[in-house]
Amino acid sequence: MDFSQHNRIHFSEKLKNETFDLLVIGGGITGCGIALDAALRGMKVALIEKHDFGWGTSSRSTKLIHGGLRYLKQLELKLVHDVGRERAVVYHNAMHVVIPEKMLLPIVHNGSLGKQTSSFGLWIYDMLAGVKNSERRKMLSKHETQMAEPLLDEKKLLGGGLYYEYRTDDARLVIELAKTAFRHGATLLNYCELKSFNKNEQGKIESVVATDHISKSSFEIKAKYIVNACGPWVDLLRKEDESLKGKRLQLTKGVHIVFPFEKLPLQQAAYFDVADGRMIFAIPRNGITYVGTTDTVYNQDIDKPIATKSDVAYLLKAINEMFPTIKLTQADVVSSWAGLRPLIYEDGKSASELSRKDEIIISNSGLISIAGGKLTGYRLMAKKIVDLVAKNIGKVEGRTFGNCSTKRQCLTGGNFSTPEEAARYLSELQNEANEVGFNKDEVETLFHKYGSESKQILLKAKFYFEGKTASDPMLLAELDYCIQNENIFTAADFFIRRTGSIFFNRVQTHFELEPISQKLTNEWNLNEAELQSMLNEIESEYAQAVSFN
Ligand SMILES: Cc1cc2nc3c(=O)[nH]c(=O)nc-3n(C[C@H](O)[C@H](O)[C@H](O)COP(=O)(O)OP(=O)(O)OC[C@H]3O[C@@H](n4cnc5c(N)ncnc54)[C@H](O)[C@@H]3O)c2cc1C
Repeated sequence: MDFSQHNRIHFSEKLKNETFDLLVIGGGITGCGIALDAALRGMKVALIEKHDFGWGTSSRSTKLIHGGLRYLKQLELKLVHDVGRERAVVYHNAMHVVIPEKMLLPIVHNGSLGKQTSSFGLWIYDMLAGVKNSERRKMLSKHETQMAEPLLDEKKLLGGGLYYEYRTDDARLVIELAKTAFRHGATLLNYCELKSFNKNEQGKIESVVATDHISKSSFEIKAKYIVNACGPWVDLLRKEDESLKGKRLQLTKGVHIVFPFEKLPLQQAAYFDVADGRMIFAIPRNGITYVGTTDTVYNQDIDKPIATKSDVAYLLKAINEMFPTIKLTQADVVSSWAGLRPLIYEDGKSASELSRKDEIIISNSGLISIAGGKLTGYRLMAKKIVDLVAKNIGKVEGRTFGNCSTKRQCLTGGNFSTPEEAARYLSELQNEANEVGFNKDEVETLFHKYGSESKQILLKAKFYFEGKTASDPMLLAELDYCIQNENIFTAADFFIRRTGSIFFNRVQTHFELEPISQKLTNEWNLNEAELQSMLNEIESEYAQAVSFN
């Protein structure tokens, strides 16, 4: 059976009729990671997500699989050790969507780190993360740093360090996890929101009430264990459970802004100092360069974090100081996104000082909440939760489950054993695409989204190409694939979380909003009002990405 809205009734019937070992609330990286781990160990697992998979923080990050160099300054050695080591694991399991990226750390006059401290810091970073010899940091002279990135300010520059990180597409990593969990037996439903808990006389949760936002109906789901993996919404669920005491979340907002590559033509991804002691990334990719992030305490609407004028001004100032010849203004910003970090509150600490460690909180009702953490460390977070649930089920029912096997579990699309095998597949794809005139960049972008599933999309694109459609043939082929295999429902699901086009390909997206919305409306048999509502959503997201108050 396909992971498609066409099978929605089947998924919701399963949710209504079965009793699950584990029900996960929240379809971000944390929840989907847990669903996969549990399914692989033979648990009967379900997951519900109130919006689309990856709709929360997990589509609004810096899109790096990184160890967190700056956490060294805060002496979070265990965090850097654990998350740093996970980079290679995440890469191995999803080579299409996780791409090695050399990062430049410029060393500047009056910066927070000198030559010696940078060299030592990067060395420790590599050691803690167990980086192999060939990928260890390389310190650069002033001249070498300028050659690596000519836009750096010659007057301020003292030298630099090059070290290894990985770049990803966060929302696509989430969907690959969801698809893999589905293929291993998990039942996952998006647009399905947890509304309340049903408890027995001892106050223990026995089932939950969820609302399906598509069929507009509510139903009960029974599960032995319930995990609250709701990211920034974790405390709202704890409140619903009447267990919001002790540890609480402190949300902080992070904003990224996007420039056309010509406006910020960096040769090299960079991580650099800002006057207030923070550090910022500037990352060139596919015809754009994005810059971020901010880190400010957030107490407003969790469903709608937005980039404000002052967020943009902060990032512009940082970038213009580091690369003084480019003189960017707000008018150069072509897109943006804002996300919320679900961090654990610590008395007296500023937003940037709060730890990125994850924490598990278990309430008297049995609700298991998990918050904090990083995209990069999702697998370890999932392992902790599933170990706990397996142990508890074992104690109560005497059932045993296999050990965690996600360390060597390729995700859908990442079906390659070595980087060479992945490169071979890409080169074959390119040869096939050349025959019908798709260019190299288009094919590479396709591969980095769908990996080993790309050939079937290319075949469909050829079909559309030969039929001379008004829309982009590749986009139509991707749409078909996402309808059939990636559970999309709206145009926003497609343009934001499956293709990222709203951030990275604004011009094309603009022309395709209407035809794609129309196609989806036909696919789901929606009426005129529903089409209008789909269009309103995507048009408002499109406008929001460049309007700052
Ligand atoms: C600006 C920024 C940059 C970052 N950059 C990086 C980075 O480069 N690398 C890295 O490793 N980490 C990064 N992080 C951290 C990382 O993005 C987060 O730790 C991670 O995405 C959190 O995932 P999550 O699944 O816990 O939460 P989310 O992704 O927010 O998922 C929670 C989900 O729960 C759903 N939900 C809420 N309430 C309900 C309900 N009642 N019923 C059903 N579903 C519900 C929401 O819709 C949401 O989709 C960054 C974070 C931010 C904010």
